[in-house]
This record gives sequence, C-alpha cells and structure tokens, in this order.
Amino acid sequence: MTVPFMDLSRQIASLRPQLDAAIAECIDTCSFIQGERVRHFEMEFAASVEAKHAIGCGSGTDALYLALKALRIGPGDEVILPALTFGATPEAVLMAGATPVIVDVDANTHLLSLPAVARAATARTRAVIFVNLYGQISTLHHFSGLCGERGWFLIADAAQAHGARLGGVPTETFADITCYSFFPGKNLGAFGDAGACTCNDDAWAADIARRRDHGRSSKHTHDFSGVNMRMDELQAAVLSVKLPHLPAWTARRQEIAAQYHTALGGLQGITVPSAKPADSVWHLYVLEAARRDELAAHLSADSVSARVPYPRSLSQQPAFRNFASSTSVAESKTHSALALPVFESMTEEEVLRVIHSVQTFVKTAP
Ligand SMILES: *Cc1c(COP(=O)(O)O)cnc(C)c1O
Repeated sequence: MTVPFMDLSRQIASLRPQLDAAIAECIDTCSFIQGERVRHFEMEFAASVEAKHAIGCGSGTDALYLALKALRIGPGDEVILPALTFGATPEAVLMAGATPVIVDVDANTHLLSLPAVARAATARTRAVIFVNLYGQISTLHHFSGLCGERGWFLIADAAQAHGARLGGVPTETFADITCYSFFPGKNLGAFGDAGACTCNDDAWAADIARRRDHGRSSKHTHDFSGVNMRMDELQAAVLSVKLPHLPAWTARRQEIAAQYHTALGGLQGITVPSAKPADSVWHLYVLEAARRDELAAHLSADSVSARVPYPRSLSQQPAFRNFASSTSVAESKTHSALALPVFESMTEEEVLRVIHSVQTFVKTAP
C-alpha cells in the first residue's frame, strides 16, 4: 500500500454530484465573472471566520497585494515578514512597491520570531505579515500586541490556515486584514486559482472590492486605476459546495495530528510540532528529524510520501535574498523539517502505516 502525501480525488469523489450540479448551473445561466455565486460565497466565508467582510479575488497572492494597497502601503514603506514562507508573501510586497524585510523564525514554531521583528523595526516600518505557516495560529496574538503598540498594520497570510482558531478565536480577531488562498491543494481548495481578503473595516473592504475590479464602483465608473483580480463564478460555486465540510475536514486533520503527536512524540531524534492539535488546522504536519534526509529516503522506500516543506528559505532564493538579514534558524529548518501526509480523507490504516514507518526507521537506523 502506498500512502499519498494528499489525495484530492477522494474529496472530490465524495462531493461529485453537488460539484457537477454547481458547475452546470454556472454554465446553464452563463454566469462566469463575479456574480451571485461570488457574493454568496463571500457572505458564507465571512460568516465562517466571523469577519464583517470577505472579498473574493483571483488568488492568495492577489489577496496579499490588495490588502497592502487597501492599507496604503507602497514605495518607501517596509513590511516585515518571515523567511519561511511561500514566495508569494514577499512578492506581493514588491508588487505593491514596498520593501519586504525578511526576518528569522522561531526555533520551536517555525513562525515569525517576535524578537526578530522588534530588531528589524525602522521608522519606515508600516506593517507585519504574519504567515500562519502549516496552518498554525499559536503566536499571532503577540504580534497584534506589538503592532498595536507601534502603530503598524498586521496582515495575516492565512493561505494555509482556513478556519484556524486560537482558543476558539479566529485569525480575523487579531489581524487587520487576513488573506486566503483557495489554490486546489490548500485546506479549502477551488478548481483553479482563487483567493479572498477578510476584514472588519468597511473602507478597506470597499477599497479591495473596487480595486480587484478595475477600480470601478459601477460598470462605467472607474474611481481609480485598479487591477483585474476577480474571483470567477465557477470557483465560487465549487467553494460554496466545499465550505460546509471544512470544519469536519479540519477536525479530521487535528485527529491525525493528535495521533502522530502521541505515537512519534517520544522517539529519539524526532521532534514533533510544538503546536497542540487544536492550535493548527494542519495544512502540513511538519516534524524535525536529526537525520532528515535518511528518514525521507526510508519513508519513500516504504511507499510513504513525505515532503520537505521549504527546501530553501527566502534568504536562499535568488529573487529575495537581498531583502533578508540574518535568518539562520529558517535556514536550519530547511535541513531538519519533513512534512508527513495529513489530509481529511486519510484512512486509519494509512495513518498507522506512516506511524509504523517512522517508528521502524528510528528502531533500525544505526
Ligand atoms: C499558497 C500560498 C500563497 C499564495 O497563494 P496563491 O493562491 O497560490 O497565489 C501565499 N502565501 C502562502 C503562505 C501560501 O501557502
């Protein structure tokens, strides 16, 4: 038996009749761009994260860009962000004309380091982007405290953390604007590119809603020069079918994480994630191993698909290294981190296979 890293086909199969019907309805009504279905999804998604507004857009990258523009962040401004994240995070800052300031991560959580952010502050700092890496939310509240004191905006890049809650409280409570990706492989995935911003501020929401649609307030009125970063109806229709299932999918991911924690927590040379099962939505279950590459090879030979989450930190990327200062912790994680399979339709048998394979490695390795 092969254990896949993830298997979207099972999720799709379980919802196939509803998905087919939702897509057929878009085709039958010839409604394709930002119509009723997008509005409907925006309302449902906002309610699910307890935000006043959700604004659909073309991707998670778009969401980050639109958030920065709504906060009037641009040339001359600095935005602090972590060295362990997908390239879209610094890219959006550069798209907005501002300067990314890439800092180190915390050794336990792999999340943005609070002392590193404090050290990177300058008179030009305008915002911090907290990345809910791997689905975690555990330290976000510290950053809302710091940003509040300093008068900086806090943007959450929650592309990996749909529905994450800290003691029952969603990301939106702490961040000024939260940005989501619905890339197919994310915890809530569309059938193509899609994203959203959520916030509680009417003016920011209105700015994002117009900017994504050529800066228009009506069909023939361009209030300002915007962009085309709209969500399309097919994606919204798919997302509306999936959204009601997200809480159960998240609960299943948390259950798998709890099993991994218990079974692998005491193993020599293995460090399980510091997040408690409830403090992450487990987009990825990332452990650390002293002999990571050997463990990865062992799992692969045993037909268990594991992945290195970030083989390079941003400080090691040709496109972004000039914006990074000392990020040695992030760089060390590229050598120790390994993501085990975790997805909502994973069977009990598959979870036990993964556990057994890691245990065998630890027992038999010299
Ligand atoms: C996926 C992801 C993005 C980008 O989302 P797209 O929808 O692919 O543009 C941004 N940030 C993080 C942390 C991500 O994981």
